[in-house]
Amino acid sequence: MTATDTNARFERIVTDGLCIGCGLCASLLGPEKVRINKDESGELRPRIQSTLDEADVDLVYATCPGTRCEAIPEAEISAAPYHDLVWGPYHSLTLGWAGEPEVRFEGSTGGVLTALARFLLKSGRVAFVLHVKASEDAPSFGAATISGTVDEVMAGAGSRYGPTAPLINLIAALDREQPFAVVAKPCDLNAIRNLAHQDARVDRLIRYMLTPVCGGFMPDEAMGRFLSDNGIDRNQVSSLRYRGRGCPGPTTIETTDGTRRDFHYLDFWGEDESSWSLPFRCKICPDGIGEGADIAAADTWPAASPDREASATDPGTNSIIARTRRGAELLEAATAAGFLEDGGPVDIEFMNKTQPHQVAKKRNMRARFDGLRRAGSLVPETIGLRLDALYRENSTTQNRDQEEGAFKRAKG
Ligand SMILES: Cc1cc2nc3c(=O)[nH]c(=O)nc-3n(C[C@H](O)[C@H](O)[C@H](O)COP(=O)(O)OP(=O)(O)OC[C@H]3O[C@@H](n4cnc5c(N)ncnc54)[C@H](O)[C@@H]3O)c2cc1C
Ligand code: SF4
Ligand code: SF4
Repeated sequence: MTATDTNARFERIVTDGLCIGCGLCASLLGPEKVRINKDESGELRPRIQSTLDEADVDLVYATCPGTRCEAIPEAEISAAPYHDLVWGPYHSLTLGWAGEPEVRFEGSTGGVLTALARFLLKSGRVAFVLHVKASEDAPSFGAATISGTVDEVMAGAGSRYGPTAPLINLIAALDREQPFAVVAKPCDLNAIRNLAHQDARVDRLIRYMLTPVCGGFMPDEAMGRFLSDNGIDRNQVSSLRYRGRGCPGPTTIETTDGTRRDFHYLDFWGEDESSWSLPFRCKICPDGIGEGADIAAADTWPAASPDREASATDPGTNSIIARTRRGAELLEAATAAGFLEDGGPVDIEFMNKTQPHQVAKKRNMRARFDGLRRAGSLVPETIGLRLDALYRENSTTQNRDQEEGAFKRAKG
């Protein structure tokens, strides 16, 4: 294979729409070989800096969440007392929220992920937390950050719905040789589970992996349209907070002239989920429910999206999926220490009702992959995600329609 071929093999991940801009390849190969930059549409994508060799590209294919998505290890899957074909293995399904009222308020939903990260630091279980906060130079973007104190963790509370590369510093974090936790999206954690096969430090040093259940983020072009439709000059945006400060809380945009505009979640995303603009990779995401995580936390709106009136006073309640023994133990310890409030158990029916888009996506993914494959596109390999079993439960018509839709989309 020539040098041009190896570079082209890497670039195919991007051209086939499988890159989510997580940053892991740049972290692994280093800035002399790959950097993460904004592409012409504003998305974060790897840019090759020099000739890659085959071993470099093999490593990327083995770890990139565009080419491979792995769940928690087999031993953890077997150890889980409960298994659902859609929701996967779990120890418990509960409701909860942060024990500290200001964390519940600042958090995206009920502040559970921030509360757990604060507990991990306060209890000395980890030395730092790798997570995400708002980017300082591009406020609609997220930026990877390392927090060593409970206050620093608080600065990352709230969901970032813009392009973000949470894993850009992952290798540097492992190089610290200290125990740490990661809070990142399900696809980011799939990448870390992949990396565990290549780098033994992952299992030794990353003590906890926490995730929000994730339906996808807003592409930068869609953000640009939203701002211009609302008469906001994006060059003047000085800060942008997507949600939190209530549930979901306002999307708050401040500009350099001191103006502040608040938008309801439903005005930001649109009333109808089918109208959401998402990156292609999110439309073919085999794991929005965080199967690589020790703990996944989600929203709990009864109709799967917030009610305008109720959301004005909603303090926020998460559903919490503890997937591993470590996750179950962490929930218990954080609750005993007052960092979490336990709202009692829920069942799979509750999860299905509050997350219908996740259920549909999971069920349809194998057929969508078939369509992509037929169109000649790369398709992520999945490990531990049960896509074939779910496919077999669908009607033939459903699978055919999903396959055809993905085929047409891939063909352009
Ligand atoms: C892109 C995205 C899509 C989502 N889609 C859904 C959905 O379909 N259904 C649903 O129930 N919930 C969804 N959520 C999750 C929901 O918004 C809450 O994040 C979740 O309920 C946890 O709430 P919390 O209050 O515990 O989080 P918080 O306590 O506010 O903590 C959030 C944590 O997530 C990290 N984080 C935020 N944004 C990102 C990002 N872009 N990449 C990596 N890490 C990040 C932060 O650093 C922080 O540590 C989504 C979240 C995101 C970021
Ligand atoms: S590792 Fe992450 S940034 Fe690199 S190609 Fe894959 S998804 Fe994109
Ligand atoms: S929908 Fe899937 S691919 Fe998209 S950001 Fe969420 S976890 Fe990642």
